[in-house]
Amino acid sequence: MLSPFRREALVSSGGLEYTSHGAVTLHRNRGRLGPRGGFISAVLRADRLFDLFQVGYEAEVPPGCSVSVQFRTYARGSEAPSAWIQVAPEDEPAMSSTCDRLQFRVVLTSSGDQAPVLSTLAIQQATHDTLPGLRAPRVAMCAPGVVPRRKWGALAPRQALKAIEPEKIAVHHSSEPRASQYAGASTIRGIQRFHMFERGWNDIAYHYLIGPDGTIFEGRPERLNGSHSPANGNKLGICVLGNFNRGAESITPRARASLLRMLAYLAGKYGISSRSIYGHCDFNSTDCPGDTLYGSLALLRSQVEVLLHRHAGTAACGAGT
Ligand SMILES: [Zn+2]
Repeated sequence: MLSPFRREALVSSGGLEYTSHGAVTLHRNRGRLGPRGGFISAVLRADRLFDLFQVGYEAEVPPGCSVSVQFRTYARGSEAPSAWIQVAPEDEPAMSSTCDRLQFRVVLTSSGDQAPVLSTLAIQQATHDTLPGLRAPRVAMCAPGVVPRRKWGALAPRQALKAIEPEKIAVHHSSEPRASQYAGASTIRGIQRFHMFERGWNDIAYHYLIGPDGTIFEGRPERLNGSHSPANGNKLGICVLGNFNRGAESITPRARASLLRMLAYLAGKYGISSRSIYGHCDFNSTDCPGDTLYGSLALLRSQVEVLLHRHAGTAACGAGT
């Protein structure tokens, strides 16, 4: 659930009052919110760290008038704010780095004797794990070719796993083994043994693993709970074999192409928005999936959208294709 900023954290500024009743409400000042002008809030401190925030407001905007609401965030421990971000009433939650403070400004523009009225402004913050995944229409795409568990010699899970309803995807790297150590199915067997016998998990952690040659291996069945980014739950985990931190290794074009295909296929299959594709480090304190792979997620998300758009409305995947 999204949680509101604390009432105590809110202050008066610019002749406007802010109060909190599960949300922040911007009252009109003495019955009137100025016909024009800009208002800037104090820097508001959230009661806990957040990496997503959502803003809602209600405004009456006569023709020729405008209301502009903008926010900026402060990363934990930083005195430098982000750039101002323009928000609209129906916007989905905005992503930021891990922050503890937020500031907003409102600009009202009138026209003749007509003036806009901003009646309510609500700010809520959340972390990726507390927010439901963002949904998108389901799009049927052909499943990428996958090496099934029996083909790579998987051990059976220790015990029955909980069923999940996937709504987010987390991208990982293996760190160890490195891409240069990859030896096909035996590498995947080694990872499974490590997870089961060294880590004590029920099975290999991820739902899919991708080798530097582009081969995709089935990990845990998609509908079963993973062990890749606590609190796992509704997240699918895809691991690209290699270490993509600080230039140690580069993702190969074949591995990247397989990752893109698998991301698009899973997003379409489960109706997951491309904005709910994350790196492991969005959920936990880790450098996984490495700074270079993490840095390429924005482009991958937009490429997923292009693929889904291209396949939307087409017939489901035909037999044997
Ligand atoms: Zn990871």
